[in-house]
Amino acid sequence: MDLPRHLPGALTGIPQDINADLHCHSRVSDGTLEPEELARRAHDAGVQLWALTDHDEIGGQSRARAAAEALGMRYVTGVEISVTWAGQTLHIVGLNVDPQAQALVEGLESVRAGRGRRAHDMSDALAKLGIHGAYEGALKYVGNPELISRTHFARYLVEISVCSEIGEVFDKYLGEGKPAFVGHRWATLTEAVGWILAAGGVAVIAHPGRYKLTPLERHALFEEFKQLGGLAIEVTTGSHTVAQYREYAELAKECGFLASRGSDFHGPEESRVELGSLPPLPDSLQPVWSLWR
Ligand code: AMP
Ligand code: MN
Ligand code: MN
Ligand code: MN
Repeated sequence: MDLPRHLPGALTGIPQDINADLHCHSRVSDGTLEPEELARRAHDAGVQLWALTDHDEIGGQSRARAAAEALGMRYVTGVEISVTWAGQTLHIVGLNVDPQAQALVEGLESVRAGRGRRAHDMSDALAKLGIHGAYEGALKYVGNPELISRTHFARYLVEISVCSEIGEVFDKYLGEGKPAFVGHRWATLTEAVGWILAAGGVAVIAHPGRYKLTPLERHALFEEFKQLGGLAIEVTTGSHTVAQYREYAELAKECGFLASRGSDFHGPEESRVELGSLPPLPDSLQPVWSLWR
């Protein structure tokens, strides 16, 4: 397929139908497995091209790469950056970034810096609802002191039987607009894409179907992202419904984006979609890995 004019030419190399999983989380952010355990699990599941994409953090990259390469699995560096755009939280995945790039390293540090305060505020909000000690409780699940997230609180609320599963915690307490939700300013879209590009990587809109955007807002997001140098969107992701695989495949073609595929796996007990188990991208799409040798 011919690439739209604004996209770089394909470099070759990686087969279109490779089993790629370019989105998942380790204990370095809010996953439950260590990078090495994930690498082993991905390899056992048949993944051939893998990226660990921890939230706002690249501290697990060298471990993930070493473990993948020891298993003979191709590895691409990755990160999932939290962004505030038009008052909403969006996630932008950066792939094939240089983990030493100063702009990226410092940018991510600045995004992580707000999480501690926010966690205390969430804990205070939960305490007002009669749920005490949530900060300390969440900390028990944290693998990286710089990366405390709502998922860690959710695990604690399930542990103490306030809710029976993680999803329920978001529905009742921690989701946007719920009583213990704490608004937060993450990176701007311009910053996140800029850091990824400065690190030589490819910017990808993570799970675009998950955002509450009107078609007009979605169009504005896609246009702005493209203007900034963003090249790809996730099409098959564990965070999309099957209907959304088709919907975003069409949108990727229509809007001239490369397509990415990733489970968004967080752990064996919590994730619906296993590593490497999503349907392949439709043949009509240009995969993001066509850019890499
Ligand atoms: P944070 O970065 O602290 O805002 O936490 C965001 C993380 O919470 C996401 O990456 C997901 O892992 C998790 N999350 C968000 N919404 C839900 C949901 N409805 N059900 C389960 N997990 C969720
Ligand atoms: Mn997460
Ligand atoms: Mn995400
Ligand atoms: Mn994710």
